[in-house]
Amino acid sequence: MQLLEDRILKDGNVLGENILKVDSFLTHQVDYKLMKEMGKVFADAYKDSGITKVVTIEASGIAPAVYVAEALDVPMIFAKKHKNITMTEGILTAEVYSFTKQVTSTVSIAGKFLSADDKVLIVDDFLANGQAAKGLIDIIQQAGAEVVGVGIVIEKSFQDGRSLLEEQGVRVTSLARIAKFENGQVVFDQADA
Ligand code: 5GP
Repeated sequence: MQLLEDRILKDGNVLGENILKVDSFLTHQVDYKLMKEMGKVFADAYKDSGITKVVTIEASGIAPAVYVAEALDVPMIFAKKHKNITMTEGILTAEVYSFTKQVTSTVSIAGKFLSADDKVLIVDDFLANGQAAKGLIDIIQQAGAEVVGVGIVIEKSFQDGRSLLEEQGVRVTSLARIAKFENGQVVFDQADA
């Protein structure tokens, strides 16, 4: 997606070997106009797939996921990273190792929000090693629902997340794909949309 790639080049900051900081439009401050355009592109890619729910993981997946849900006119559910006393029954959980925080956490979704009839599109801000998406797939499958695809805002294609997901038969759609960081600059691969 050209608009997103241009924004990454303008406002993204490469941190260390393999982290991109995009806190001015995606992971902290949010550019809702960009989110809305991205929502339309994801929705267009999955318009014939019968998606009934969009699922993401807090916190940075929520902004893009809301706009995908709006464009597909379906609910958005975000997996929670912390147990909450109001979540009392029927909780589906998975262990997720966080690439950026380097800790494992239990993420959860209340089972009442997913059923065996659901066809789910997962949306997340980044794809690195695929652990966040893998955890969400695990939870969605516990509910008997089908994972149709994973929509990613920024994929780092030099990490192995895509192959992990495609091995499970899940379609991956990334709006920007980073091939490498070279002297602090972003070099793109061909994106999916
Ligand atoms: P994965 O689970 O695919 O290994 O990593 C994806 C998660 O790690 C994303 O949900 C995102 O929060 C975080 N992440 C991975 N790589 C980056 C990065 O380069 N920049 C930022 N800001 N977050 C990242």
